[in-house]
Amino acid sequence: MRTELDWSAYDSYGAGDAYAQVPAAGGGFGRAAAVCIGNRQCQRDGNGVMCPSFRATKDPVHSTHHRAQTLKAALNGELGASPFTGPELAAAMDLCVGCKGCKRECPNGTDMALLRTEARAQRWQALGRVPLRERWLAAVPRWLGHLRRLRALLCLRERLPPVAAIAERLTGISARRSLPRVSARAFLQDVEGDVYGPADGREVALLIDTFSNHLDPATAQAALDLLLAGGYRVHLPRAPRGAAALCCGRTWLSSGLIDEARAQAVRTMDALWPLVERGVPVIGLEPSCLLMLRDEYYALVLGERVEQVAKSALLLEEFLAREHDAKRLSLALRLPDGTRAAVHGHCHQKAFGAMKAMRKVLGLVHGLETHFIESSCCGMAGSFGYEAEHFDQSMRMAELALLPAVRALDADMLLVANGTSCRHQIRDGAQRSSVHLAQVLRRALVG
Ligand code: SF4
Ligand code: SF4
Repeated sequence: MRTELDWSAYDSYGAGDAYAQVPAAGGGFGRAAAVCIGNRQCQRDGNGVMCPSFRATKDPVHSTHHRAQTLKAALNGELGASPFTGPELAAAMDLCVGCKGCKRECPNGTDMALLRTEARAQRWQALGRVPLRERWLAAVPRWLGHLRRLRALLCLRERLPPVAAIAERLTGISARRSLPRVSARAFLQDVEGDVYGPADGREVALLIDTFSNHLDPATAQAALDLLLAGGYRVHLPRAPRGAAALCCGRTWLSSGLIDEARAQAVRTMDALWPLVERGVPVIGLEPSCLLMLRDEYYALVLGERVEQVAKSALLLEEFLAREHDAKRLSLALRLPDGTRAAVHGHCHQKAFGAMKAMRKVLGLVHGLETHFIESSCCGMAGSFGYEAEHFDQSMRMAELALLPAVRALDADMLLVANGTSCRHQIRDGAQRSSVHLAQVLRRALVG
């Protein structure tokens, strides 16, 4: 079979191992599924981040193990001639939110998020079409900014349940889910320059993702202010004039629309390359967007530049922690003594070990006491929490740990959540606002 993603990283997996259970078809894709050796640690009960769908349902059918087994059966021809359009694989993958908990916590590093992406791509190919809602949700970066003009209409949906119910029937978006709040102006509309800061400052690129740009420009502004206060020369990579804004391609990838994800990734790489080539670090704010440059870009077959781009890509907290360790960070950060903050980590921050950097950077703020919430996936997971058929499971995932912990916080505590989706889920589920780390640090700038 021809796979849509590059699975060559798994080519040698299981070589010479008679017990590896590598499927008959699928090449590296099959070998990646065979990484699951079936010891079922993903079905244990507990508070680890791994597999929110199993934790929420307690049903082995919604565990990483069952998904890997079903994929192997599909590739071994046990699910009929068209396994990717059949009900078994669809049911197994239904509640996988692509959180990458398994990639980090499975002892063998089963990467079900990527396997599911390939399975989706194969499904669309076998069906010969992509359902409208899937195409529509994948294309969020294209239309999110246009919601700005429809704000009055969208308010109507929020206030009148019958309107929301009709919208649910037409779009498949849950009537019980609030819509993203698009800000009056996009960050990149307001900030017109391409580079800010002193000519002799250490150069950095601040990559503004779709969500920070349209939903949370205050976070993008806070990150820019912070970097300028640190004396950096900050580049704001942009698409060529007149073209659509840059996008990492995450939403298309999650939907299994690989060609479009690749096209978006190429545009982003083209814009970053002149800076990356000179060794300029690329800083991002939204974990699932920035970390795509370090992870899935390898599977998108983007050529030789991908390695250097991946090595340059850092979350804001990783960049600041690294600068601090290198004794290059000149930021004075202070909040009134006794200020307390609780932190919810985004799944991809956890999967890529970025929580250590969060801890370190928040520890640089004098006067701030920080408490890390023991939570798994918030349950929103991009479009998952919007989908009518997934709304209840989305909330169940959130209620496992995150929302009760948030409700128990004192009203005067800051709540830090770097994921746009996490902040949305917290607002919907606990009626509480939360902010990106950049905003806490911006507030803490002294002088
Ligand atoms: S996914 Fe990982 S933890 Fe679960 S059964 Fe397979 S190898 Fe074990
Ligand atoms: S990506 Fe997340 S939801 Fe999907 S199998 Fe892995 S841990 Fe479970």
